[in-house]
Amino acid sequence: MPRKIVAGNWKMNLNADEALQLINDIDQLDIPNDVEVMTFVPSLYVQTAVEESKKATVGVQNFFYEASGAFTGEVSIDQIKSLGANIGLIGHSERRSLFGETHEVLKKKVDAAVAGQFDFIFCCGEPLEERESGNHENFVKHQLIDSLFHLNSEQINGGIIAYEPVWAIGTGETASTEQAEEMHAAIRSWLKEKYDAATADSISILYGGSCKPSNAAELFACPNVDGGLIGGASLEADSFGEIINAY
Ligand code: PEP
Repeated sequence: MPRKIVAGNWKMNLNADEALQLINDIDQLDIPNDVEVMTFVPSLYVQTAVEESKKATVGVQNFFYEASGAFTGEVSIDQIKSLGANIGLIGHSERRSLFGETHEVLKKKVDAAVAGQFDFIFCCGEPLEERESGNHENFVKHQLIDSLFHLNSEQINGGIIAYEPVWAIGTGETASTEQAEEMHAAIRSWLKEKYDAATADSISILYGGSCKPSNAAELFACPNVDGGLIGGASLEADSFGEIINAY
């Protein structure tokens, strides 16, 4: 059975006081026993978040694949682990489009994470033109083949994938339950094809893209949706809590 996960991606939001307040507010939420909550905080706040968070697993939004050296502005897996966090996002559409992260770069990050026993959420999702031309499934399948599916079944087992249609991220427009379930079922079937049924069923496939309290319950009710990666609505404990409890 895949784990049920609700993860917040804070992006480049909140100053240090606001971040601490949100961490403390999330700790006040009622969280169902079978739902894992994660917060992907700006790297600057990882140490505080790890020390303060009682309920959420803390992760980073970005990391570099090299272990150390002359990579100005980057942070390594070892550095993150030394602060007590052990999970990061890979392949978020903003990293792909704004920071030029290619399939090759993402593959290196996946390999560095596996080698460093560092967990990750691999993000994928099609831009609007691919959806409109009907090529969305093929596009997402290739994102997975190009950067993730070189792993063996032991390495990918229990992993996390987030399907985030680019046209739904931060736009207020959400995939319909039919669109979300269709893609999530397709991802599960590719995992089954490439690996096996047990491996496919061990992987949590999260939906991301303007998920909010008003639509979370119907999205999470889809058979192949195992939770959400939440941007804007994770910046306030009330709305994040409502989404967590939409299960
Ligand atoms: C995201 O950035 O991962 C995301 C899903 O953002 P939003 O919920 O704001 O669309």
